[in-house]
Amino acid sequence: METKNIKAYGNEAAEAPLDQLNIKRRQATAHDVEIDILFCGVCHSDLHTARSEWGPTLYPCVPGHEIVGRVISVGGHVSKFKVGDVVGVGCMVDSCRECEYCKEHLEQYCEPGMTGTYNSPDKYFENTPTFGGYSESIVVDESYVLRIPETLDLAAAAPLLCAGITTYSPLRHWNVGPGKKVGIVGIGGLGHMGIKIAKAMGAHVVAFTTSESKFAEAKRLGADEVVLSKNREQMAAYRGKLHFVLDAVSAEHDVNVYLSLLRVDGSMALVGAPEHPLPVAAFSLIIGRKSFAGSAIGGIQETQEMLDFCAAHNITADIEMIDIKNINEAYERLLKGDVKYRFVIDMASLKN
Ligand code: NAP
Ligand code: ZN
Ligand code: ZN
Repeated sequence: METKNIKAYGNEAAEAPLDQLNIKRRQATAHDVEIDILFCGVCHSDLHTARSEWGPTLYPCVPGHEIVGRVISVGGHVSKFKVGDVVGVGCMVDSCRECEYCKEHLEQYCEPGMTGTYNSPDKYFENTPTFGGYSESIVVDESYVLRIPETLDLAAAAPLLCAGITTYSPLRHWNVGPGKKVGIVGIGGLGHMGIKIAKAMGAHVVAFTTSESKFAEAKRLGADEVVLSKNREQMAAYRGKLHFVLDAVSAEHDVNVYLSLLRVDGSMALVGAPEHPLPVAAFSLIIGRKSFAGSAIGGIQETQEMLDFCAAHNITADIEMIDIKNINEAYERLLKGDVKYRFVIDMASLKN
């Protein structure tokens, strides 16, 4: 297999900061697209993984799964893309393609498991994990590459590849739309996209935040109402009022409080993936026949649908652009909920 050495940013152990390192990419094989990476969003999952918070990570770890770039070469059998196209790559770069879920366009729930954009075994290189978007370029099978609509700002579109689809998919699945009152909890990268998308779907959106500074701004993002979740009186006013709650919080918090805000037969879905278990009281669910669920990203077809939906509604992320050398500092700010609302790395800062 022909390979290419490129620059990347990653770490070698859970306690180690991220730093520049060199990695190997395969040259595009028959069905592959080689992408020069222009922008990469910084998801909280990058931090959870780099620090082995979800179990042992495969090191070296090169995070990044909100990738926007330009096609620089294609394999002989590629039909969907050509050199020069602007494309995106999200959280997965492969799956088995044969199981019932892959056939139903739910590759994110592939039975043997999807291949993550980073931190999955790389089938092309023995004993090597897949490396994500904090790198100069990436090579991906065309079936897992997305078209970025031309009207979108490229840097602000990068977060759609994870934060966008991870909120769009459950909002669609639980039929959010006109006549529905929807709570979005945790106004970070995911949560702020959740507000924008739920609003565009026609729902009445209630944002829940722990941050006073976001309280003032959540309406600009599209929320009809905003609640400071630390304020018990404000919270009590919503008891039994919501059809659906999307929880995008990255750390420990009390989910029972949000279950109490659901109407009878209401559902709450977790997309936030904190390191430690979240206790649920039986009576939080029994009284009111409530459902407590989870959701992971979305399939490739649904991701393209989400990108086209965002283009039609002129939706992108609110971003703060950073240089790659400031990634460790950005992680510390993420931990404090101090980002409005997504960091995006300008990958020119790695190349120069
Ligand atoms: P983020 O930008 O850091 O946002 C998380 C938000 O949670 C913060 O902005 C803050 O919102 C709130 N929060 C943080 N700590 C809190 C605490 N101790 N108590 C209450 N609220 C707190 O993270 P993200 O990138 O949006 O990701 C959110 C979570 O989703 C992460 O766990 C990530 O790994 C996970 N994720 C899951 C999927 C999936 O497929 N299910 C995909 C992507 C990411 P306020 O300031 O508004 O309170
Ligand atoms: Zn992510
Ligand atoms: Zn499969």
